[in-house]
Amino acid sequence: MLRDSFGRVATDLRVSLTDKCNLRCTYCMPPEGLDWLPKPELLTADEIVRLVTIGVERLGITEVRYTGGEPLLRRELVDIVARTTALSPRPQVSLTSNGIGLARLAEPLAAAGLDRVNVSLDTLDPGTFKRLAHRDRHADVIAGLAAADAAGLRPVKINAVLMRGINDHEAVPLLRWALGQGYELRFIEQMPLDAQHGWSRADMVTADEILRLLSDAFDLTPDDLEERGSAPAERFLVDGGPDRVGVIGSVTRPFCGACDRVRLTADGQVRNCLFATEESDLKTAMRAGASDDELAERWLAAVARKRAGHGIDDPAFLQPARPMSAIGG
Ligand code: SAM
Repeated sequence: MLRDSFGRVATDLRVSLTDKCNLRCTYCMPPEGLDWLPKPELLTADEIVRLVTIGVERLGITEVRYTGGEPLLRRELVDIVARTTALSPRPQVSLTSNGIGLARLAEPLAAAGLDRVNVSLDTLDPGTFKRLAHRDRHADVIAGLAAADAAGLRPVKINAVLMRGINDHEAVPLLRWALGQGYELRFIEQMPLDAQHGWSRADMVTADEILRLLSDAFDLTPDDLEERGSAPAERFLVDGGPDRVGVIGSVTRPFCGACDRVRLTADGQVRNCLFATEESDLKTAMRAGASDDELAERWLAAVARKRAGHGIDDPAFLQPARPMSAIGG
């Protein structure tokens, strides 16, 4: 098992399929985009499936989430999902996406065995979307959400990041809309992972603030029936339930003590934490002919070194060199 020195066991693998994205959300990357990884640096579909297979068959991974960048931009996505759901023991397989292209791909992905999808949507207003993401694609995201729901990729979850002065007035309308559609909304605190290093604690809309905003319109009670466990979202019943909303206070309410995640970047680096400053290079080892046993050993060693916490509150905190889009959120 992928056990660290504090006894935490990683069972949830986040795999970035590409660092490219077709949006430019301001909390993630600059409007002009980034220098994408050169193609030879990217793991091939076969290499991805080989590493995921080692994770599932030898290292106790029970959940695989494909992300990016934007995973729908990866041409082999449906094939990769199908090969992942064919593994034994079969892991849960999910996707984090901006939803653009999901209208076309939700059905094939469901047929390949995809279990669930998280779609990012920060606003109900197409104009605000364009301002925030620098692309006029709001309608595509809404269509993608509907297609995911129709394809049975439920519960369809929505991730929303609130930014002060941009969309923080939308907490209540977003929740009202999501509940009306039957989607499960989770608000995520903005984290210091943007390529521009523009994050500031003062500007971040905190979990406390989000809960205060929502409490103006809804009666929220902690969902005691749902053990938070390793789940990052604190969940609340809305107006007595059964509807719920989640708040992910990665910065102000960290859940590192219960973290069960490990990440694989699109260029084959294992990261034991979103905020890790060190990585373990499985790609070079694999391309130099390492056996499955050797790759598993490297992976075990990488997780064993995981730090106790992300350390954002530490005065010596250093933002990782890779931005969120290149890590895989
Ligand atoms: N492109 C896909 C998407 O939009 O969901 C997957 C990758 S994206 C990096 C994954 C999630 O990370 C999205 O929900 C996005 O809003 C979130 N995200 C990106 N940068 C963030 C930041 N600085 N703080 C908090 N969440 C962030």
